[in-house]
Amino acid sequence: MPKNVKNTTLPRLLDLIAPHSCRGCGKLGTTLCECCKKYIVNSNNYNNQPGIKELPPFYTVGNRDGLLAKLIYDYKYNSTRAIGIKLAELINEKLPHKLPPNTYIVPIPTSTKHIRERGFDHILFIAHHLAKINHKLKVKPLLVREKNTVQVGSNKNTRILQADQAFKVKDKTQIDSNATYLLLDDVWTTGASMLAAIKKLRAIGAKHIIIAELSISMLKN
Ligand SMILES: [Zn+2]
Repeated sequence: MPKNVKNTTLPRLLDLIAPHSCRGCGKLGTTLCECCKKYIVNSNNYNNQPGIKELPPFYTVGNRDGLLAKLIYDYKYNSTRAIGIKLAELINEKLPHKLPPNTYIVPIPTSTKHIRERGFDHILFIAHHLAKINHKLKVKPLLVREKNTVQVGSNKNTRILQADQAFKVKDKTQIDSNATYLLLDDVWTTGASMLAAIKKLRAIGAKHIIIAELSISMLKN
């Protein structure tokens, strides 16, 4: 029996017995109805770039506020897996229709502490669903946690340093220089995790990288 059984059983049970309701309008039977999904996709088409020079192509569902923020919170902290499927659909709507033939989703690795608390790896879960609905994509979890670090630094520089030490490329990873690596994470704040991941992939020869962030929430400093 897995060690974290206590954390995983209850949310799974609730997922099964409680009917889902749309987090936007309350409609029963789904965690996000088509109408509210369209609303999120269409209302977030402005000002969603981190504004960092030489950043690989960047795609996001939108700013982390309103309904999108509610969905991400419920997904991460209440472990509502059905919302993960909707988040995968939302980011898929924002990706370019013409993706290069060999595009691999590389999830930003979640800390083991968070996996234990939530009962699952929330980014990996979305990555698998994204690959399921977008047949041009395959999942390649090339990055792993270096040690059990969690981002706790309050300022940008501390976060960048922590992120750089937080994960590494899996041993014996072979990079295909013709392939495209799509880095996937849930929120861009300082960009520390994403920038560290880009650096690590480039260091082992990845030439084509694109970024998919579920949401963006810029820190002021
Ligand atoms: Zn709705």
